[in-house]
Amino acid sequence: MIKKLERIIPPPPPHMVGDGFRVHNFFPSSGIQNKQRMSPFFMLDYASPYNFPPSNIQRGVDVHPHRGFETVTIAYQGKVAHHDSAGNHGVIGEGDVQWMTAASGVLHKEYHEKNFSQQGGIFQMVQLWVNLPAQYKMSPPRYQEIKKEKMGQFQFDGGLLEIIAGAYKDIKGPAHTFTPLHVYNLHLDAASELIMDLPEGYNTGMLAIKGAVTIQEQVVAADHFALFQNTGTQVAIKTTSNATLLILSGKPLEEPIVAYGPFLMNSWEEIEQAVEDFNNGKFGVLD
Ligand code: MN
Repeated sequence: MIKKLERIIPPPPPHMVGDGFRVHNFFPSSGIQNKQRMSPFFMLDYASPYNFPPSNIQRGVDVHPHRGFETVTIAYQGKVAHHDSAGNHGVIGEGDVQWMTAASGVLHKEYHEKNFSQQGGIFQMVQLWVNLPAQYKMSPPRYQEIKKEKMGQFQFDGGLLEIIAGAYKDIKGPAHTFTPLHVYNLHLDAASELIMDLPEGYNTGMLAIKGAVTIQEQVVAADHFALFQNTGTQVAIKTTSNATLLILSGKPLEEPIVAYGPFLMNSWEEIEQAVEDFNNGKFGVLD
């Protein structure tokens, strides 16, 4: 049965996160404003292709905390650097992913990589916030750097599916996750048509990273997000030119969500505790 297209969301007006990330928020602040609709994915910020001039200052976001979820950064163009208070540091480039589990709490900073900053250029990236269920919100922080070549690959007739997290058929993605979810990049050849299987009942959406695709007779243009109904298990995708889609599909957590700035918890009491712990230096130290 077909998973019906619910709606196509054009990129909301961009805003700056720090001075390095010019993002369209597809959820939950604009676009899809129901905080549960894409659970366990809580936030999708998309930095559409944007040309940053050369700079000797590394643009980005300075030290800030997170608790209760994971931040997943996918670089499409340009390079992103990361440092956190758990001692992790990494640089990702085109096609690579940083999967940072903040869980009980970290401080981190995220910015353009030094050489990329100096040279300038087109920057394109996604940041996802993946919510954690109550039982894992206070687990230890973790950092997974996932290079493009480590991803699972499923070859379609008409495209290549890169499996970042979850699985497709019997091919697994490298990311360790806490709840059932799939994150894929689908690279489609020109003039192709393929059918993807996606789980019944999962919250599912696709972001057109490059090119346009046609789904159920509707065009999903570059930088647009397609939201699907949860019933059904198959989506047919057609292309005329080359295209890349980021595909998200996850089992809803079905828990209360209380979001406050960089904290994502189940109750206001837990938010107050997070603020108190942060103020008392319990998230560690990061220069
Ligand atoms: Mn952050």
